[in-house]
Amino acid sequence: MEEKKVALITGGTRGIGKAIATRFAKQGYNLIINYVSDKTDLKSLEEEFKQYNSEVLFIKTDVSKFEDCEEMVKSSIEKFGKIDVLVNNAGITNDNLILRMSVEDFEKVIDINLKGTFNVTKNVVQYMMKKRQGKIINLASVVGISGNAGQCNYAASKAGIIGFTKSIAKELASRNILANCVAPGFIDTDMTSILNDNVKENIYSQIPLKRMGSSEEIANTVYFLASEENTYITGQVINVDGGMLM
Ligand code: NAP
Repeated sequence: MEEKKVALITGGTRGIGKAIATRFAKQGYNLIINYVSDKTDLKSLEEEFKQYNSEVLFIKTDVSKFEDCEEMVKSSIEKFGKIDVLVNNAGITNDNLILRMSVEDFEKVIDINLKGTFNVTKNVVQYMMKKRQGKIINLASVVGISGNAGQCNYAASKAGIIGFTKSIAKELASRNILANCVAPGFIDTDMTSILNDNVKENIYSQIPLKRMGSSEEIANTVYFLASEENTYITGQVINVDGGMLM
């Protein structure tokens, strides 16, 4: 029997991360699912993934802490022996206009979104390099390309992720490791549920497809980039945004 592939997904217990984890489970992967907040429903989540015959290792780790990420990756390798796919999905927003944004608010978003992506990737690539194969998919955002009033911290973190991804794509290509970004537009998750109806209507008016995207629509693109169907796309940003940014 062919050995199962292994994917590590950060922030994988809810929203886009959970949809990505579910997609990989359905495709026969074993999973390492990272999270940070206390969870009461891990048992039922585990049961959910078992129906796809996926073995899942849940690891509570704050991706903004380098040493903790080192431990997370070590435990993952101890359990599964390899990581074929890394999806850096964990991310937060903390919006404000620049004049009202505190240094702490700016740093927190950069530390989790951008430094977190570095922290996990640096620890994973050494194992991918030894195997001379791997796929890395980083969750950016269309606002990392276009900018957005009230999100200078978040947009900077996502623009940083794009530069980071292109750089490692160049560094790691010779080892057959492909790195790409998926840039979602406006997706229906906890992150966007805080917006009021007026703001949402205003955003819909800027989307040619006139609706929010679903987490599953993001997961489909992430899975394609990670799959054996993708052998020649690296260093790219794929917008999944209903045409919001063209
Ligand atoms: P979400 O529903 O708010 O979920 C955020 C996820 O990140 C949660 O799983 C959370 O874990 C995890 N997380 C937060 N801080 C973390 C930390 N320090 N260490 C580890 N994990 C942490 O967000 P989402 O909408 O699914 O977004 C997922 C990704 O897509 C993010 O990178 C986001 O920036 C990007 N994105 C989303 C949209 C959108 O419209 N929703 C648009 C563009 C880009 P816990 O569950 O443990 O708290």
